Amino acid sequence: MSIAQHISEIQAQLKFSSAKLIAVTKTRSIDELKATYDAGILDFGENRVQEMVEKQSQLPTDIRWHQIGHLQTNKVKYIAPFVHLIHSVDSFRLLKEIDAQGKKLGRIIPCLFQMYIAQEESKFGLDKGELLSILASPEFAELQHIKILGLMGMASFTDNEAQVAAEFQALHDVFIELQTQQTAYNTGLVTWQELSMGMSGDYLLAAKLGSTMVRVGSAIYGARS
Ligand SMILES: *Cc1c(COP(=O)(O)O)cnc(C)c1O
Repeated sequence: MSIAQHISEIQAQLKFSSAKLIAVTKTRSIDELKATYDAGILDFGENRVQEMVEKQSQLPTDIRWHQIGHLQTNKVKYIAPFVHLIHSVDSFRLLKEIDAQGKKLGRIIPCLFQMYIAQEESKFGLDKGELLSILASPEFAELQHIKILGLMGMASFTDNEAQVAAEFQALHDVFIELQTQQTAYNTGLVTWQELSMGMSGDYLLAAKLGSTMVRVGSAIYGARS
């Protein structure tokens, strides 16, 4: 099957939900990205800053670039001028740097907080307590060049579907709790509208459990080498 066929099959599967397909284009060639664009996808996810910057300079300007991988503070400046959404905000220090770069550019940079939901050892992501303490901090309320649109999470890498479902459900619960308690925080800075969860192995499950954005790579392009 071609890239376009894989995409239309996945989109057909997702039709029952409100989840939007983000094509995860890391390691893929410019030609593969062009085929993706020609298939009507405008949302591309990358996890390496340098790769995103190089691809962005060669492709149509209406592509929306999503930073989905861990972002080092010293690299924010390279993507700040054009990035559409940063999914992987996992510290207040990083968020402050994104805000500082947004200020320099006179733009507001949309962000998601990456939550740690997997059982396995993983380096990145916030737990609920850390998230709540960022949201409640006076310093957070002073930020003016970021906007928090929601949460992102990655489930455990396992065949155990019940475990993955429980992890997605737990993230969804936090998301709904934040939505309903919105007024407790600075509402100008946050709107809980996006829940980024689901990858090639679990996007259908994620869509059933309330995902608004699935990040899919290998189910479109095949395994990464
Ligand atoms: C690579 C990656 C994906 C996509 O993974 P696939 O299994 O190829 O769909 C999704 N999210 C993040 C954060 C990634 O790094």
